[in-house]
Amino acid sequence: MAQLEARHPGESEYLQAVKEVLISIEEVYNQHPEFEKARIIERLVEPDRIFIFKVPWMDDSGNVQVNLGYRVQFNNAIGPYKGGIRFHSSVTLSTLKFLGFEQTFKNALTTLPMGGAKGGSDFSIRNKSNNEVMRFCQAYMLELWNHIGPNTDVPAGDIGVGAREIGYMYGMYKKLKNEFTGAFTGKGIEFGGSLIRPEATGFGGLYFVHQMLSAKGLELKGKLVAVSGFGNVAWGAVTKADQLGAKVVAISGPDGYIYDAEGIKGEKIEYMLELRDSGNDLVQPYADRFPSAVFVPGKRPWELKVDVALPCAIQNELNGDDALQLINNGVTCVAEISNMGCTPEAIDLFLEHKILYAPGKAVNAGGVSVSGLEMSQNAMHLSWQSEEVDRQLHHIMSSIHSQCVDFGTESDGYINYVKGANVAGFMKVARAMMAQGVI
Ligand code: GLU
Repeated sequence: MAQLEARHPGESEYLQAVKEVLISIEEVYNQHPEFEKARIIERLVEPDRIFIFKVPWMDDSGNVQVNLGYRVQFNNAIGPYKGGIRFHSSVTLSTLKFLGFEQTFKNALTTLPMGGAKGGSDFSIRNKSNNEVMRFCQAYMLELWNHIGPNTDVPAGDIGVGAREIGYMYGMYKKLKNEFTGAFTGKGIEFGGSLIRPEATGFGGLYFVHQMLSAKGLELKGKLVAVSGFGNVAWGAVTKADQLGAKVVAISGPDGYIYDAEGIKGEKIEYMLELRDSGNDLVQPYADRFPSAVFVPGKRPWELKVDVALPCAIQNELNGDDALQLINNGVTCVAEISNMGCTPEAIDLFLEHKILYAPGKAVNAGGVSVSGLEMSQNAMHLSWQSEEVDRQLHHIMSSIHSQCVDFGTESDGYINYVKGANVAGFMKVARAMMAQGVI
């Protein structure tokens, strides 16, 4: 860690993600002197390569705008680089390095052959016209197209990148490459996308939560749930939580949170899609539309008394104070559907109080898993029915849960999902790296 901090000063999110993994794997690493000899950790914590480029584009008023674009190809020991693209004003190199590092372990847990990568830009789609978004996506792809491909690096969506942005990027990629291949996942259903992909992260997250509760003899049915965010991931999570009989009472945005005591269901879930498509990143309009709801400005939903808390928005969105509040209010289960949604202080508190807690790399792996299934369908020139994709998603989430139990169960029976996910992901990637020599 000291070496890494000296080499990459100030890259706080990246250093945070690496530290969490190193602490978890210390014990198993020390049992494998061959890993030490091959410098597996030193090689695993640095990305294979990083592309950084400027993205100039013209806005609707004819002004030239310049953003920064990135793609971090982190590790391809077990498959082609794979991971989303994030367009958000908070994106820095540190953000994408942490996400690429996390993706490497997450993808290893999915059981599918995918390496880890992440890309993005500090461009924000907020208040941009459709044409501006298209021009930006095309400009971003103009630089990246030659470094990706179905067997090299397969990008997908993340915050700020949904079906529309993927369509524009894929269109430009296809034109420049003059090849119709599965170089992206999350594509529209008409041109090689997979059924269930938009829902997959949230659905998979709830399948995982269901397993966490069942492992302790508990049921999801009837539980009160708080969700953060109101984007694609939150929408999938709310939909599946409702289907499984839980009652979701909160969603949130950068402006505050919505508390809806009657539960978010039916047309209210549909309305989340409308809100997201409005492009202005505010959740308050929900309360204007549905009188059962209260808008609490500037606050996060973790102050509510709920059984299950599901961070679904962005990294470090649940801190130590939030964790204490949830614990004092009797929370049963906290599962990150966002990537690294909880700060290290929050995680330490959950583990100390033996709360059922699981990290994003396990809980949210359903999204990239269905991306992997989209790659399989593209390679076979087939498309599967939604029942088939959902069945495989279920199976993958169960397998991730079992890996966490196998590697993370402590002597008193408590399942440390952080340790379980990190050790299981690490062992797979480390073994593949060992087998492939020093490259
Ligand atoms: N951005 C998503 C994630 O964090 C999905 C990545 C993908 O489908 O490649 O896992």
